[in-house]
Amino acid sequence: MQDIPFYDLGGATRDIRADLLGAAASVIDGGHYILGEHLARFEAEFATFCGVRHAIGVGNGLDAITLILRGLGIGPGHEVIVPGHTFIASWLAVSQCGARPVGVDVNAASFNLDPALVRAAITPSTRAIMAVHLYGRPAAMDALSEVAGEHGLPLIEDAAQAHGATHRGRRVGGLGRAAAFSFYPTKNLGALGDGGAVTTDDDALAERIRRLRNYGSIIKYRHDESGVNSRLDDLQAAFLSAKLPLLAAKTERRRALAGRYDALLAGLPSIVRPEVDPEAVWHLYVIRSRRRDELQLALAELGVSTLVHYPTPPHLQRLYQDSHCTSGLVESTRAASEVLSLPFWPEMEDRQVDAVAKRLERALAMLGGP
Ligand SMILES: *Cc1c(COP(=O)(O)O)cnc(C)c1O
Repeated sequence: MQDIPFYDLGGATRDIRADLLGAAASVIDGGHYILGEHLARFEAEFATFCGVRHAIGVGNGLDAITLILRGLGIGPGHEVIVPGHTFIASWLAVSQCGARPVGVDVNAASFNLDPALVRAAITPSTRAIMAVHLYGRPAAMDALSEVAGEHGLPLIEDAAQAHGATHRGRRVGGLGRAAAFSFYPTKNLGALGDGGAVTTDDDALAERIRRLRNYGSIIKYRHDESGVNSRLDDLQAAFLSAKLPLLAAKTERRRALAGRYDALLAGLPSIVRPEVDPEAVWHLYVIRSRRRDELQLALAELGVSTLVHYPTPPHLQRLYQDSHCTSGLVESTRAASEVLSLPFWPEMEDRQVDAVAKRLERALAMLGGP
């Protein structure tokens, strides 16, 4: 019996069902569904939340990254540095511009880009460095900014898992030249469908991305460049405006749950707990085990659902088999074979965390050995 799910999306909407229905009614009755006032309002709110001048609502997180790269003029013949351990979208966005993703290994403890290795991977073709705040833990943006600055390269953030996280007190979304967010339903701030946003303080880049997301046009029927159709629609924007005020409390709850796991799992043999970073927003709670696959099966037998984020690193996907980015990604490859995401969502109850911890201890005992 799987009595502890990996995630329960129901709680996220139960709390504020009336607000969501009100938001939907306001869009329905307003009769303006694309590039309307609800989108403008959410863009302003989200820009303020991230501490930047511009937020541009787009169709999803993948498009947000792609549009940043295109907005920066990145294309064929160019290289973009990306982490070797991340969701495939970080790499796909680079490929979709016609540029080449260059995987750089991650730090084993943070799962994020190792700044020294980034410096070593820069070539005359490098046009940008993309940091990913994986699992909600901010990348080493200070050190990465220094490397980017030395080479005059833009540093961009894939903040799809890190809404509201900070690095040295400053919010993600404003730590580089531009940042990409996803509002996929399970993200820390999730819509009731697909959605994404770009945040930036760069006025010219913001203007260009506004154009690119709307067929390359700001003035109706005037097209100076080739754009796409990728806009956050007003219905999703209205839902996000209703949910944004709850994000701080949800984040606090995520931190409390992570702290509870940390205390309960301390001392368990042969697993590695994630480092507790008070600035992280805990999109996922990810442990490591050398016997990950057996452990996942044992937990399933005990009724605990887990997931692996992500089982195959981008550089080992068939899609990238012909690219030259398959060497030196030792930690990224090892992470993919060892990570295990435990049940985790902000409405999860303390007793459910306690049950997972108990059963994890039992599962480890079942496996025996180191
Ligand atoms: C979810 C995610 C994306 C893509 O966002 P979508 O809205 O699903 O397109 C990109 N990068 C990371 C790290 C993600 O977790």
